[in-house]
Amino acid sequence: MMTLGTPVQLIKGVGPRNAEALKKRGVETVEDVLYHLPFRYENRLDPKPLSALKAGEMASVIGEVRGSTVLRARSMPIFEMTVGQGTGTLKAIWFRGQYLQDKFKPGQMVALYGKLEASRSSAGQFKMIQPQFEMLPGPDEPQDAVMLEVGRIVPVYESLGGTTAWGAKLGSRWMRQVVWRLLEDLAQGPELLDPLPRSMRRRLGMPSRLDALREAHFPPAGTSMADLQGFHTAAHARLIFEELFYLELGLELKRKRMRERAGIAFVADERVRNAIKEVLPFRPTGAQKRVLGEIVEDMRQPQPMRRLLQGDVGSGKTIVAMEAALVAIENGYQAAMMAPTEILATQHYLSAKKLLKRSSREYKVTLLTGSLDDAEKRRARRRVASGEAELVIGTQALIQQKVDFANLGLVIVDEQHRFGVRQRFTLMKKDESADPDVLVMTATPIPRTLALTIYGDLEVSVIDELPPGRTPVVTRRVSEERALEVWDFVRKQITLGRQAYVVYPVIEGSKDDQPELDFPSDEQAGESASQNASNKVAKKTTAKKSAAKKSAKKSAKAEELFEKPSLRSAVEMFEELRYGPLHGLRLGLLHGRLSADDKEIVMAQFKRGDLDVLISTTVIEVGVDVPNASVMVIEHAERFGLSQMHQLRGRVGRGAAKSYCVLMTGARVSPEAEQRLDAMVTTDNGFELAELDLAQRGPGEFFGTKQAGLPDFRVANIVRDRRLLEIAKKEASDFAEVQLKDVSDEERALVRQQLKQHWQRRYGLVEA
Ligand code: ADP
Ligand code: MG
Repeated sequence: MMTLGTPVQLIKGVGPRNAEALKKRGVETVEDVLYHLPFRYENRLDPKPLSALKAGEMASVIGEVRGSTVLRARSMPIFEMTVGQGTGTLKAIWFRGQYLQDKFKPGQMVALYGKLEASRSSAGQFKMIQPQFEMLPGPDEPQDAVMLEVGRIVPVYESLGGTTAWGAKLGSRWMRQVVWRLLEDLAQGPELLDPLPRSMRRRLGMPSRLDALREAHFPPAGTSMADLQGFHTAAHARLIFEELFYLELGLELKRKRMRERAGIAFVADERVRNAIKEVLPFRPTGAQKRVLGEIVEDMRQPQPMRRLLQGDVGSGKTIVAMEAALVAIENGYQAAMMAPTEILATQHYLSAKKLLKRSSREYKVTLLTGSLDDAEKRRARRRVASGEAELVIGTQALIQQKVDFANLGLVIVDEQHRFGVRQRFTLMKKDESADPDVLVMTATPIPRTLALTIYGDLEVSVIDELPPGRTPVVTRRVSEERALEVWDFVRKQITLGRQAYVVYPVIEGSKDDQPELDFPSDEQAGESASQNASNKVAKKTTAKKSAAKKSAKKSAKAEELFEKPSLRSAVEMFEELRYGPLHGLRLGLLHGRLSADDKEIVMAQFKRGDLDVLISTTVIEVGVDVPNASVMVIEHAERFGLSQMHQLRGRVGRGAAKSYCVLMTGARVSPEAEQRLDAMVTTDNGFELAELDLAQRGPGEFFGTKQAGLPDFRVANIVRDRRLLEIAKKEASDFAEVQLKDVSDEERALVRQQLKQHWQRRYGLVEA
């Protein structure tokens, strides 16, 4: 008897060896196999005759192998096969396809899927270049195999790994048979329990679980192909919804539990308000006032605050955070502010001190970073533990690991997008008695519904207005051949009294794998998500490059004539610019490999205006605030992720002066990079750019997958399925809040059990 929980090795056609392989892909049970949905479908319902097809179409063609040959074009072997359908024929071509020679025997039936192109040699004929193909069963094979391969809409699967006894990959044909049999077995067994209550399904018009699975794997004739390919059928919606509902329900319960915890009810009276007013250096924007209101309202509640403050770069989150800190401090509690880099922590420390000096009362601010020597660190920790330190600012690693607070009331996490979700949770749990309030800040403009999912346990506030007097940054794209003009421009700006940043993708040499964070935040998070993405683009050339580097310089040069031109790096360009195009200007160099002291010195010099140009890597991506800087030059801009470029651009345009962002690009720019560069030039709206970034890279890369605590969905895709996410959220909240009368106790128990299993297995990171 097969049930959803039956282990995969008991499935006919799997066996222990393949069970191992499937396990590696997280597929352990019948349920896991069934939730491995096809990623695409082929309409082989009534295969059209070749005569009914048009060039340019994507088509699946079923025919008989007539013959094949291996040709050579400029020493590249090309496998060419003729597939016939009655009197019509089609040529299928695979470059370097000589290995296919023994695969196709004349008479064999095949299904091809690819783009039809008109043959150049013979008019009225078609060819397909590199089509996907599949052997169809012959007449003496079992009939149900035939039935699964043709005469229907056929599911196409990504391989789950594993091989047949003779070493072929377990592909779509194998999956079709396994899934078909499983579905048959399940249909014959007792009725499958449905994790979605019947009344909910009825209300939403969703099919039962088994029906949905059956139709998603083997869509009935007549299903719209467009709906299928887009995962928009009722069956898909049901399966996607199920997954999102459980995600949201888990988050909902978590929020609920949080509300039940004891927190601190801060007082925000006239005295506290005056303390804040005293230090404010400028009139807050309307948006700043509104979000501060939301934060203070939370802080006054006896439950712990869990709030996400979202605001584009330069929107002025810091001052809001400082105001919240003052509320805590004026109530006799300590506030801690954590930043992702030493540079940023130090900057916050210096500006907090400057800000608080405006007050008539003295505030005790303590910095806690890796650059302090051991004795200083000890002293700082003592001040924190005794309660003497009222505001503690530091890198999160330091604050989190070894610090005991006397009386921690508020934790502020700056630039959350640089942190992993795991860190956030360890800190939230720190205090056993009353939980401190937590304010998380991020400049990654995540669309609201998504924010609710990723930071599902947080309330969200958004600063959607920039401080007055900002002029938009003028963004230009310039080919690197015109570098000298760019350096001339930089020089002119400096003559006008401004400062400039020049950013490179790597620190030194031409390797792409140079992490650029002050510290690795955990075992897997050595780099920021966006950096990973740009690395990925570049990975292909890395191996060759480093090999070339080892050999004599001359031959490396020779090789590079054929390879991509070498990557310019911060260290090398610092030298080159200093003695070349930017000669006579005061240049500073900043990157993650400098000691913390050196970084601090360079940053301080730049801030004071003692340096004209800061040559840097992406260490300055987050938070750095030097209003006099008016030019941001990004070299190799095609290698940067969109969010990353937007963050970098956010370093300028902070003062009244007109500011510029110059995106320098090499000769070869991929179509995706083109799109990114275009977007940068045409908009400075962080939300729009985030949407495009999300679309380009997908949620996994965008949020840095595990690092952001994004669950591994089986079916759902939170970008594509946003509408269902909204519905799931509402249903989950109703389910948790209201005791729905039309849900039976049995169904409720099932939901609870499913939730537990679901969260433990799929979202282990985001602990329920
Ligand atoms: P971010 O949200 O990127 O952290 P910051 O808090 O660093 O932005 O603020 C960007 C700059 O804008 C800072 O120089 C800050 O002093 C200034 N600023 C913030 N709010 C205001 C305001 N209401 N009026 C004028 N300047 C402001
Ligand atoms: Mg900031």
